[in-house]
Amino acid sequence: MTLTDLGVPALRISRPAPTAGPLIDTFGRIATDLRVSLTDRCNLRCTYCMPAEGLDWLPGSQLLSAAELSRLLRIGITRLGITNVRFTGGEPLVSRNLEEIIAAAAALRPRPQIAMTTNGIGLAARAAGLKQAGLDRVNVSLDTVDATHFAQITRRDRLDDVLAGLAGAAAAGLAPVKVNAVLDPRTGLDDVVPLLRFCLEHEYQLRIIEQMPLDAGHEWSRDRAIGADAVLDTLRRYFDLRPDPAPRGSAPAALWRVDGSAATVGIIASVSEAFCGACDRTRLTADGQIRNCLFSTAETDLRGLLRGGAGDDEIETAWRQAMWAKAAGHGINDPSFVQPSRPMSAIGG
Ligand code: SAM
Ligand code: SF4
Repeated sequence: MTLTDLGVPALRISRPAPTAGPLIDTFGRIATDLRVSLTDRCNLRCTYCMPAEGLDWLPGSQLLSAAELSRLLRIGITRLGITNVRFTGGEPLVSRNLEEIIAAAAALRPRPQIAMTTNGIGLAARAAGLKQAGLDRVNVSLDTVDATHFAQITRRDRLDDVLAGLAGAAAAGLAPVKVNAVLDPRTGLDDVVPLLRFCLEHEYQLRIIEQMPLDAGHEWSRDRAIGADAVLDTLRRYFDLRPDPAPRGSAPAALWRVDGSAATVGIIASVSEAFCGACDRTRLTADGQIRNCLFSTAETDLRGLLRGGAGDDEIETAWRQAMWAKAAGHGINDPSFVQPSRPMSAIGG
């Protein structure tokens, strides 16, 4: 795949990282969307993410405290032009500091848009409080509405909790409620039609994500993964799908209008049709490492700087340099591709 295929300008800027202005990389992309992983722990064991036995969790002493994270959020928002923050994990709802951290982000000016990606377990009871703390929107991960398939994929029998979480999010006004689905190669094409019907009925916006090589077991295989084309072919047998005319911007999902209505389904073709040229993300792991890409093999240690007494200027510079070094694309389709050692749950999806 060439840089042009990825939508990345072939000419690189050759000078040192800027010391002011937005978080730019050498290809001219500007990061305004910060993904913050709050924990690497989770109460599910999705096959495409975690092994059945879980992982060696990060020790508590390595995790950023609420105060440390709040400081980094302030630097990102007030100095680096971050406008959107999404909390993720691991499972962000298992993080004890969640409401406190959301409130700290919401108190910053300019106030960022605040979203969360969650598996939805426990969300029913906390949605109203999270909204009150300042959460604007949620994406709830749900790959199937079939209870047996759900238990096979997540290795836990918790479908009803997730459905209750979705309903709680909608009732609390965390709108639009989006559903993230990563399709299982064995059942996914059967699951996707009832899943879309369910989402249309409840006015949730379904986003179907191609499975990426970020599983802890390194078992992803291109031949087994379900591609965007197969999903579209399946859905088209049951629904009339037309491309959404609204400009896509930096959104990863290509949107399709369903059955002539305003309802949409999104397809995120991260592997088969990479959108790296429009990437506006910067990532912070639960242990305080900046990653300039899901697939980067290098990290910048902001926790070390924080704990070593660095001032805001020094932290800002390190963050800028990390983003300046961002590669043109994720490289999944290159013969030399190497899967990052951190799995999705420890990066923050
Ligand atoms: N636990 C939360 C959840 O599941 O929504 C947040 C963390 S999870 C890592 C974030 C998103 O990454 C979820 O939507 C999940 O389906 C997706 N994900 C996990 N592993 C993936 C993989 N190998 N390829 C693509 N998406 C993946
Ligand atoms: Fe947990 Fe989310 Fe990974 Fe599933 S995808 S195991 S819910 S972190």
